[in-house]
Amino acid sequence: MPTLNRAEAVERASLVDVEEYHVDLDLTGSGDTFRSRVVVRFRARAGAATFLEFEPVEVTSMTLNGVAVDPAASTGTRLELTGLAEENTLVVDALMPYSNDGEGLHRYTDPGDGNTYLYQHLFINNAGRVLPSFDQPDLKAVFRVSVTAPEQWLVATNGELVSRDGGRWEFAPTKRISTYLASLIAGPYHVVTSEHDGIPLALYARAALAEHLDAQAPEIFELTRQSLDRFHEMFRIRYPFGHYQQAFAPEFNFGAMEYPGIVVFRDELIPRSAVTDADRERRANIIAHEMAHMWFGDLVTMAWWDDLWLNESFAEYLGSRVTAEATRFTDAWTTFAMQRKAWGLRADQRPSTHPVAPSEVDDTEQALLNFDGISYAKGAAVLKQLVAWLGDEAFLAGLNAHFEAHAYGNATLADLLGALSASSGRDLSGWADVWLRHAQVNTLRAEVTRDGADYAEVAVVQTAPDGYPTLRPHRIGVGLYDRSPDGGVVLRERLDVEVDASGRTVLAGLAGKPAADLLLLDEGDLTYAKIRLDDDSAAAVPQLLPHLDDSLARAVVWAATLDAVVDGERPVTELVTLVLAALPVETEVVVVEDVLRATRGLVDRYAGPAARPAALETLALAADRLLAATGPGDSRQLAAARGLIGTTVDTARLRGWLAGEDVPDGLAVDADLRWLILYRLSVLGAAGAAEIDAELERDRSASGEQWAATCRAACPDAEAKEAAWAAIVGDATLSNRLAERTASGFWQPEQLDLLEPYVKRYFADMPEMMRIRGGMSAEHIAAMAYPSPAVSDRTRQLAADLLATPGLNQILHRVVQDADDDMRRALLARG
Ligand SMILES: [Zn+2]
Repeated sequence: MPTLNRAEAVERASLVDVEEYHVDLDLTGSGDTFRSRVVVRFRARAGAATFLEFEPVEVTSMTLNGVAVDPAASTGTRLELTGLAEENTLVVDALMPYSNDGEGLHRYTDPGDGNTYLYQHLFINNAGRVLPSFDQPDLKAVFRVSVTAPEQWLVATNGELVSRDGGRWEFAPTKRISTYLASLIAGPYHVVTSEHDGIPLALYARAALAEHLDAQAPEIFELTRQSLDRFHEMFRIRYPFGHYQQAFAPEFNFGAMEYPGIVVFRDELIPRSAVTDADRERRANIIAHEMAHMWFGDLVTMAWWDDLWLNESFAEYLGSRVTAEATRFTDAWTTFAMQRKAWGLRADQRPSTHPVAPSEVDDTEQALLNFDGISYAKGAAVLKQLVAWLGDEAFLAGLNAHFEAHAYGNATLADLLGALSASSGRDLSGWADVWLRHAQVNTLRAEVTRDGADYAEVAVVQTAPDGYPTLRPHRIGVGLYDRSPDGGVVLRERLDVEVDASGRTVLAGLAGKPAADLLLLDEGDLTYAKIRLDDDSAAAVPQLLPHLDDSLARAVVWAATLDAVVDGERPVTELVTLVLAALPVETEVVVVEDVLRATRGLVDRYAGPAARPAALETLALAADRLLAATGPGDSRQLAAARGLIGTTVDTARLRGWLAGEDVPDGLAVDADLRWLILYRLSVLGAAGAAEIDAELERDRSASGEQWAATCRAACPDAEAKEAAWAAIVGDATLSNRLAERTASGFWQPEQLDLLEPYVKRYFADMPEMMRIRGGMSAEHIAAMAYPSPAVSDRTRQLAADLLATPGLNQILHRVVQDADDDMRRALLARG
């Protein structure tokens, strides 16, 4: 994959102005290539030399301004051009490769019906895999697309369809967009259309998902309309890209991608089995997130990848906000506090941490590395804090001014800060410096001294981690909660507090007041910080948490509690006991799912082999109690069932569910729940290849094929492990998703003896895996295949040896460094 560096991009932007790409693809061939005929019209400084990204299999012809280009100009990753005129026309006819890693033009064959589906994903530096292009975000151009494809197919792109004649599609030119945003889908996709406020809407999914898309379309369209309306209330510029299509494509690497006019989602988001309300909320949030990008990212685009956060932090913030404000998922900020923020906090405390807005991103590979919890979740949390500080009116006014100044162009952080400063009348340079230019996170700890039953003094103590001394101003809420006589918990008072950067802020007005049973810092989850309760409040959590009515307050308490366990300040066994007390009465399904998931991960790594079985049993008991407390139509029932299946060792009960025996009333043991049960049975050695094959026979579908790969990799069987490992590290014919699903089943804490040889093999084999696979998929696989359950000094030593290897792939370096840091914490916690 070609890597573009910043200096090259700056120079090229100074030489070239791109007008239009006319891309004419022929997708009718049967081999591993497709034909790409492209006309690029661009202006240049006369006499200059430059290059385009271009990765053909075979070039048929190339001309520049009517003159044949020397074939040697195509180097495999670039097309070098010299002697440019002021007005240039480059015409290229070439065979390009289909991909199976989710980048370029990805081709997928559905194992259920044999249908072939394509989607085009050019982010971050893959445009050269489909067309010769000036592949950098600030060289925007019009895309005009024509496609020849099998007649029974459907083709859709950013631009609107102008004509369709049998197997020939012609699309209208787009507005000026960045190369990484050009997309298309092609194949026998099923379509559902609608319209809202003058905007044509369409949904696409594989034919095999047609009945599910039809059934879910009303909900997706409703969310789309609600989100569009809310964005139109907030933003003065209307949705700028004509139609709004949403395609659900197989084996997509991201949750979704914000191509103007045609958002593409992973098609797991059109589930065929029962899902929880948390799953539905996640989809709603992604819909709103991608829509936010139509303004932030697509209409106004970062000039270079150092401002990637401008795209993702805003989309993450606005995605949660619009979901909470405009859809039925009014508790979207609870999800953010529980889940997304924890992701940002973890990333921010690792050795690989970086500022939200790094001042230097040298090349596209480094840009991809920054595509993490910091750019998304920390950035969004910081924006939430900015809104708390500036006020919403000034914030939105600044955004609107920014859009109007840079529509269809590019902008930088400085441009945005300028617009927000103008709208708010405040100098934002100090704020930007501490929040955006400095990495790492502060801890806010409540320090309470009492005078009998009253407060003598309450202070918020702010600390910074070693090596990152920056303290920050925080605007937060502080909640005082008391037990009520009926056994509940009531919010007595909520304070608005400005925590300054001095390190200790005394809360005025609390001295002499009765001490609360729970003093909650960051009530309302307004800032980005690690929160620690005072000792009395922490001790009261097991009794009070189940009775806190406000789900956001519970999320803040849970997040602080989980974080203290991550840091080794509190034992994981204490956490498991809290889960047993609080989970069976938890009303918010998002909290249920996240607590189970996070606790399970901590038990696997922190509990140690001696303590783990009992901890897991307690978790299973908590899930079982919640299951007993819920009934048909309650999302928590499915969440509890999934949690129980994942933790129990009662294989007879699981087998019974598969056979339809003693299934809780209202719980559908449908295709995906059957596979989840079979997966657990495989991990425990209670099911093997024969059962997996039989289930696949029942379920010859894309999902069935993926589940079977996970289950096979999970079997505690030497041959199965060997086959799975070979597939993960050495089989480039395996698609991104099948390789990921294999890797996700491989490591099991139950199987450490059997897996012992693979600890060493991971560090020996991954560099080659990174070589044969590319980009995001390779990163996912390297992370999923990491021997995380093998918590030991030896694993850490092997990691250290690999990290010391000169010339180690940057992406692998990051993955290993981060996973090793997690293991360092686990070892510390085990003591
Ligand atoms: Zn995004």
